[in-house]
Amino acid sequence: MSDSVDASPLIGAGEPPAFSVVRSGTARPNGREIVFVCDHASNRIPAALGRLGLDERHLLDHIAWDIGAAAVAVKLIEWLGGRGVLGGYSRLVVDLNRSLRDASAFAPISDGVLIPGNLGLDESAKAARAEAFYWPYHHAVDRALDDATSSEATPVMIAVHSFTPRLHGIERPWHVGVLWDKDPRLPLRLLAALRSHRDIVAGDNEPYSGRHPADFTIDHHAEPRGIAHVSLEIRQDLIRDEPGQRRWAERLAEVLAEALDTPELYRPLPAVGLGPDESGAGRRRVPDVRGTTAAAVGGGGVR
Ligand SMILES: [Zn+2]
Repeated sequence: MSDSVDASPLIGAGEPPAFSVVRSGTARPNGREIVFVCDHASNRIPAALGRLGLDERHLLDHIAWDIGAAAVAVKLIEWLGGRGVLGGYSRLVVDLNRSLRDASAFAPISDGVLIPGNLGLDESAKAARAEAFYWPYHHAVDRALDDATSSEATPVMIAVHSFTPRLHGIERPWHVGVLWDKDPRLPLRLLAALRSHRDIVAGDNEPYSGRHPADFTIDHHAEPRGIAHVSLEIRQDLIRDEPGQRRWAERLAEVLAEALDTPELYRPLPAVGLGPDESGAGRRRVPDVRGTTAAAVGGGGVR
């Protein structure tokens, strides 16, 4: 099931909307809702932007999208219940997981590939892309979180990404990475559940750190609300095709179901101290509890 948005000059007739909303037919138990987000779900470039001057092969590569991530996210939504918001266009048009002030929001180069359509972009061109693709997506995430919030419970937010198995000549051994920063509640449960499977190599803030300052979606939506959250990174060679997507969605659904089965996650961080009257609309900065576990800030690169 999809919601659409108003047509924009950058989105032609017959082209998909800036985002899609997926809702599960499976009800969540006890009002314990989940909101999935998949910033880099699509490699589509709107016809109005040509191919940003890129060859087809570059648009199929990891620089354009998170290969396999959308398919895994949709299966997780189906099986675990909840809802999700998926980006409708390539991260090369505008990266939904960046502040618009960040230079990499409109990447002029990615993993050594020059993006001709992003060279010398002026402010009005950036603003047009932000209006057509970026804000509609983030407003949809806000609405999904609002809709999933009740007077009894706040939702859990799960971001689904995938990562290239090799970057800058370095192989990455992890099957799945658990990225987190200030709120350890869901990440530590999930890491424990993953590590109970000896054949799964799980990264704690690997191959990227959830403390990377460039991340936007979690920082902008989950942290101010104080809701439990995590970013998942899945290695792309494992989920390139449907059998792999199904296998890893099944494995992740199993460990997520285990990690998500505790009432503590469906309340804003206790230290935030939201009262019962405020739990629905409350948006406060969460206290900085980093340092409760050690993890280094990771490097940049294509994330
Ligand atoms: Zn991503």
